[in-house]
Amino acid sequence: MIVEGAVVDVDGARPAYVRFRKGRVVEVGTPGTDSRRGTERRIHGIVAPRPVNSHTHLGDAAAAREPPRTRVSEVVGPGGLKFRLLASLSPAEKERAMRAALERMVREGVGAVVDFREEGVQGVEQLRRAARGLPIEVRILGRPTQRPVEGGELSRLLRVSEGIGISSAREENPLTRTLLADRTHRAGKWFALHASEEVREKPEVYLLPRPDLLVHLTKATPDDLETVAKARIPVAVCVRSNALFGRSPDLSAFARAGVRLLIGSDNAMLNAPSIFHETEFAYLSGRLLGHPVDPEYLVRAAYVEPWLWLEEPGRARVGPGMAGTPLVLRLPPEDPAYQLVTRATEQLIVPTGAD
Ligand SMILES: [Zn+2]
Repeated sequence: MIVEGAVVDVDGARPAYVRFRKGRVVEVGTPGTDSRRGTERRIHGIVAPRPVNSHTHLGDAAAAREPPRTRVSEVVGPGGLKFRLLASLSPAEKERAMRAALERMVREGVGAVVDFREEGVQGVEQLRRAARGLPIEVRILGRPTQRPVEGGELSRLLRVSEGIGISSAREENPLTRTLLADRTHRAGKWFALHASEEVREKPEVYLLPRPDLLVHLTKATPDDLETVAKARIPVAVCVRSNALFGRSPDLSAFARAGVRLLIGSDNAMLNAPSIFHETEFAYLSGRLLGHPVDPEYLVRAAYVEPWLWLEEPGRARVGPGMAGTPLVLRLPPEDPAYQLVTRATEQLIVPTGAD
């Protein structure tokens, strides 16, 4: 099969054709120059690395009601509605809902997800079971249940997870954060936290100890964003989740500061885990609120930057020998980044033969 149109990847967007054999990319070049002129099935479309959902809490996927119209901390903060709900559900109910959420991401072509899983070792193991056999990489950042942190629990958690993802610097004292970050880094894993979501926090607080990933920065100032960009720490934004609580990060300011942007869909109880919806909303809300953001920046955040963060650069470039399979969408090739950001849907995905 030959897809003629455009490629969007780590090298940007360009007119191109991509030839597939048994689902793998075997040839990429300028349109009209392929080696099989007229002898192979040919479609028009855009080829890109698979999108990554860089921030989720799939543990609360079993709750699907309209979120209450109140403060974010009362809904998903420690002790809030979400944690009462998690405590009331059986492990089997949570596991079923998490699997359904993962299956939805697979249908939308998502290649990997980075989840903040609460509920300690048990929570991580539930998500692992839920993901069994699905063609999606699930990277789990766990959270210890005991405070003060109990060494045994933390060791067990670091054995089963890809690292630690905590609530925020406001909710965890500096000693706890330092202990968690040190132990996590010594284990060669990721340490991540939410920052400046409901109110502004100072970068010197959330950057110490040094995290590998920040989430939100909804309330960050342009100076804060520059500090984070200089530290080269990627930030996963969740614009639909923020919108539910009346907030909107100015992603054009993130772009100007040079922040390494990632995109996530946040709590599954708030929004469906769809990166297509997330990028579309990010683009449109920027236009609506008078701070438009370039679709190229959003495409990079959803389809490219996370693979670099996950240390899988081979999945960020569409070319012969590419690791894994790319995403093919029946979309027009004009302004391909704009097409991907605003018009991608599950229905337009073309199977390449390996799916
Ligand atoms: Zn979160």
